[in-house]
Amino acid sequence: MLTALFGGTFDPIHYGHLLPAIALTEEVGLNQISLLPNHIPPHKPQPEATTTQRLTMLELAIEDMPPVFSIDTREILSDTTMRPSYTINTLQQWRIENGAADGLAFIMGQDSLLSLPTWNHWQTLLDYCHLLICRRPGYAEKTDNTKLQSWINKHQTTNIQDLHNAPNGYIYFAHTPLEDISATEIRKNINNKKSCINLLPPKVWQYIHEQGLYSAKKM
Ligand code: ATP
Repeated sequence: MLTALFGGTFDPIHYGHLLPAIALTEEVGLNQISLLPNHIPPHKPQPEATTTQRLTMLELAIEDMPPVFSIDTREILSDTTMRPSYTINTLQQWRIENGAADGLAFIMGQDSLLSLPTWNHWQTLLDYCHLLICRRPGYAEKTDNTKLQSWINKHQTTNIQDLHNAPNGYIYFAHTPLEDISATEIRKNINNKKSCINLLPPKVWQYIHEQGLYSAKKM
């Protein structure tokens, strides 16, 4: 069985994160998925919710989910006030803690895979983990970036067994459900007073309301 990290801003966490991740546990055979909220996302605007609010939403989200989920706070609670969280550093740290032999996967959506060339030391990520790629509406499976595409071709596998036989090194495109949901859309809808009740777990939705999150005029 494989352990997976699932990095993101989670501002807020939604079913576009959770449903593909649950499907992945079955498809690939994952014994644990650690949600890994980032501290200062390197490639995106800063989160609207505070650190505490993002963490609370993750805790509420996994309360009613299968017990495969946990939360890894190492990035979000890191003391590097102005330094972004780089995935490569987290993976290196995980290997120091767990050794080289255990299987580790990093989950990302197709949009994140396409942005990989902007990531710090992206070509060495596979020295530490496998990449599990979830489909995402609007994002093609192939890229025009020839460097990225040839790197993908070199490391891609369609054989799930490869992910269990080696601790790292493969890219696997999962057949997870397409969920047309983004945190950006949720924040925009809330600001426009539209309901997002079906897009995220009820307890998270309730918390967002209690905190007055994502509304231009805070409650
Ligand atoms: P934003 O809209 O603010 O950019 P987001 O909805 O993309 O946020 P993130 O927290 O940035 O959410 O995403 C964390 C990870 O989850 C990324 O790897 C992203 O590709 C993936 N992800 C997010 N939403 C989906 C979705 N609907 N389907 C598949 N993967 C997703």
